[in-house]
Amino acid sequence: MVRARQAGLSQILAVGTTHLDSQACLERARREPMVVAAVGLHPTHLAGLPEDAFGQVEALALDARVVAIGETGMDNYWKEVPLEVQEASLLRHLELSRRLNKPVILHCRDAGDRLMTILRDNCDRHGTLRGILHSFCGTADEAKQALELGLHLSFSGMITQKGNQPLLDIASSIRRDRLLVETDSPYLAPRPQRGKRNEPAFVVHTCAALAECHGLSLREMAQITTNNARRLLGLESAI
Ligand SMILES: [Zn+2]
Repeated sequence: MVRARQAGLSQILAVGTTHLDSQACLERARREPMVVAAVGLHPTHLAGLPEDAFGQVEALALDARVVAIGETGMDNYWKEVPLEVQEASLLRHLELSRRLNKPVILHCRDAGDRLMTILRDNCDRHGTLRGILHSFCGTADEAKQALELGLHLSFSGMITQKGNQPLLDIASSIRRDRLLVETDSPYLAPRPQRGKRNEPAFVVHTCAALAECHGLSLREMAQITTNNARRLLGLESAI
């Protein structure tokens, strides 16, 4: 927390991956004024959960310190959970997000087509989505579709890695009112810290890379992404 504050961060979103982890994120958010929570069941963590795991998430989601639902989404990389099971869970999270009017946090790995089809269908039935396609690493077409559906795109340390020009090119084309930055910690530490356990303070490097590709200063991009996050998550206004 001290290092995050020293790095200039004002708020941290702790994102749950299971019912127990979501509970821990909420407890942290209750203890630390700087932290708010998201609660959900990660698509790769769905195997072996108790039957009422989603019910527990639903109960946690009512708390005022919970500002988003997730992470949920689709993952065809690890192949531990059948895609049909992931899809059913995603639909429950989308319904909860709409019912409580809290944005949804979406994970996508090697499942862009399937995720976009589900989201578009959901959008056609129920209206524009409010949420985040997190740690974005998809194609330009997926980025375009996500924006059309109403989503924000969040970039992680991947845009700081050498050889990731295609992703930087996509990042540079995203409208500024839909840009966010994140750590995805403990994974994906940005380049100067690569190999270390990622932590909130390191998001500054990701923000700097995003600023550079948009031709802005770090301070300007920090302001933009902070305001976007606060608007989307319903947090207190401007820094
Ligand atoms: Zn994820």
